[in-house]
Amino acid sequence: AVKEPLLDVRAISAGYGGMPVLHDVTLTVYPAEIVALVGSNGAGKTTLLRTLSRVLSATGGIVMNSHDLMPMTSDQVFAAGLVQVPEGRQLFDRMSVQDNLLMGAFRRTDKAAVARDLDRMYALFPRLSERRRQLAGSMSGGEQQMCAMARGLMAAPILLMIDEMSLGLAPVIVEQLMGVLTTIRDEGVTVLLVEQDVNLALSTADRGYVMETGSIVHSGPAKQLIDDPEVQRAYLGL
Ligand code: ATP
Repeated sequence: AVKEPLLDVRAISAGYGGMPVLHDVTLTVYPAEIVALVGSNGAGKTTLLRTLSRVLSATGGIVMNSHDLMPMTSDQVFAAGLVQVPEGRQLFDRMSVQDNLLMGAFRRTDKAAVARDLDRMYALFPRLSERRRQLAGSMSGGEQQMCAMARGLMAAPILLMIDEMSLGLAPVIVEQLMGVLTTIRDEGVTVLLVEQDVNLALSTADRGYVMETGSIVHSGPAKQLIDDPEVQRAYLGL
């Protein structure tokens, strides 16, 4: 049997005030895989995420888990399980780590399941466990990124979209975060990872898409993309 995609994005075009940015973007994500969406600054990656979150209007089709996302509001998309960890973290700075995590779960009514997931986050991110009472705004960039990822996971997403996870972080922290992504992937969470660091994203992802000026120009298994001479020349400095 052919596996059904979890996310099926068909021929999306979108832009800002009549200025086109995305041109016929088609992309699929299968259950429990990490898909990297890579490309240079300004390629349109964030614009695609904003389109999927239904913050930005678009033409084309978006189906997730058999739900048509096109007519939905961003709240409805979130409720359907598409959760974004935004670029720049956007934590509640004056709230504790724990309260930030609980904010991620604000729609969930099963308190016992939320409590279990909170414990799971502290196991996944021991650094957050030590700092659960600390104000989120007072933590390091890496700790804040952990908090943002854990807050996203507390929503019990079907698909977690992470925008520029590695930006400005030390390599040792980035390596830890990538390890967490593979752990949650192995537990069944599906991840769409948006990165400017092409090498980093493709060395962790299962499959990848390369975007240039609003179009997908390469796609395939991540290992294959890393070995593609054109990708190497354009993005890997080889
Ligand atoms: P980055 O990693 O720098 O965020 P990106 O690949 O995510 O790059 P986008 O942020 O999606 O790229 O930007 C794609 C294009 O859309 C750029 O030309 C940008 O100037 C334009 N753009 C982004 N946001 C807006 C906006 N709010 N209004 C008008 N144009 C925008």
